[in-house]
Amino acid sequence: MTTDKHNPFKIAQQQLDEAAKILDMDPGVHAALREPMRELHVSLPVKMDNGETKVFKGFRVQYNDARGPTKGGLRFHQDETIDTVRALAAWMTWKTAVVDIPLGGGKGGIICNPKEMSEGELERLSRQYVRQVGRMIGLRKDCPAPDVYTTPQIMAWMMDEFYWQKGYNEPGVITGKPLPIGGSKGRNDATARGGVYCVRELAKILDIDAANSTFAVQGFGNAGQYAATLMDEILGAKKLVAVSDSRGGVYNPEGINAQEMVKFKLETGKVEGFPGTKAITNEELLELDVDILFPSALENCITDKNADNIKAKIVAELANGPTTPEADKVLHNKGIYVIPDFLCNAGGVTVSYFEMVQNNMNYYWELPEVHARLDDKMTAAFHAVHEMREKYKVDTRIAAYLVSIQRVAEVMKLRGWV
Ligand code: NAD
Repeated sequence: MTTDKHNPFKIAQQQLDEAAKILDMDPGVHAALREPMRELHVSLPVKMDNGETKVFKGFRVQYNDARGPTKGGLRFHQDETIDTVRALAAWMTWKTAVVDIPLGGGKGGIICNPKEMSEGELERLSRQYVRQVGRMIGLRKDCPAPDVYTTPQIMAWMMDEFYWQKGYNEPGVITGKPLPIGGSKGRNDATARGGVYCVRELAKILDIDAANSTFAVQGFGNAGQYAATLMDEILGAKKLVAVSDSRGGVYNPEGINAQEMVKFKLETGKVEGFPGTKAITNEELLELDVDILFPSALENCITDKNADNIKAKIVAELANGPTTPEADKVLHNKGIYVIPDFLCNAGGVTVSYFEMVQNNMNYYWELPEVHARLDDKMTAAFHAVHEMREKYKVDTRIAAYLVSIQRVAEVMKLRGWV
């Protein structure tokens, strides 16, 4: 059960309030930014393999579309709540603004446990979701994408269902698709790549030798696995000392071969038991004495309970909402530099935006072009936020809010909404 203190939407509002106060924001604009513009709650009857019909609950939240069509992932998770989806939709709004792409923020979710569902059940659930939310999504309205426990295959089914509804192909309505049906090169590792570009820029500022830095990755899915391998590929950093997933973690102070670890996880479905490592808990991983910590799982893993024990110099938040506001203050006061979620993990939506652009042109870029464009966007966003941090002497999360909410507010004013 989520307490109010750990309710992600309350946290998102609290973060916004703090930034709005610093900017002395017009109360009407502030109030408009505190709530989602639209949301849809759906029930989804699905025929299960045993012949019974099960009804799932789903959501789609369009938080703010002043800067362009809303965009944001779709989660399949047993603990999904509307407030989590609202928070994630708010963070998508700030995320698209911080990287300055012409989109708003949205998010979706279905309460389900995909680990217990067959491929056929997942396909029927995905298609049913599009039958319901099809009325509110579209290239110029709202474009879903993958998130926790949703895959390129799920995006392909959803894009196809939308095609049957409309009677024409509109691949850009869903991003994170497999390459043969309009996916973008470079989308699979974009979230982690964007985060590693931020780490690269920050290491220069903090004068940290990135190649010799030690790092740990909590959560070993899409974001975490690529963070582990790209640290080496981009920065030459080989000292991955710990990784974890929902079952637990492993540690080796001498370093873990990231490529081998990914292979092991794919083959066995877990990180536990990787040769040469000792088992540690997720909690222990977070408190390791490393240079860089990548929280890459779910919300609220760094709280007032463990913030004081965090020893990393840099916390690069690939996950959304891993740090509570109380913990943020503790980390900032300890001199730990947090690269906040909606900046650090913005590479995913940035390449999703590139995917939409390519779908619309019906012409596709090669990988080096995608990487170069992503690097430009992430580097510019990182430095805009860092400059704001220096100017206002605030923590980096609030600095990122200052950049983003001013951009959204400016457009709302220009449109005459506020
Ligand atoms: P994923 O489903 O591929 O992986 C999630 C991983 O987290 C899995 O390894 C799972 O075992 C692990 N996990 C779950 N609960 C855990 C726990 N309590 N402790 C440790 N590990 C746990 O998901 P993903 O796409 O990698 O997303 C991870 C985070 O990154 C989420 O917060 C998501 O919102 C965020 N994110 C992802 C993308 C993207 O493009 N994939 C983009 C932006 C943000």
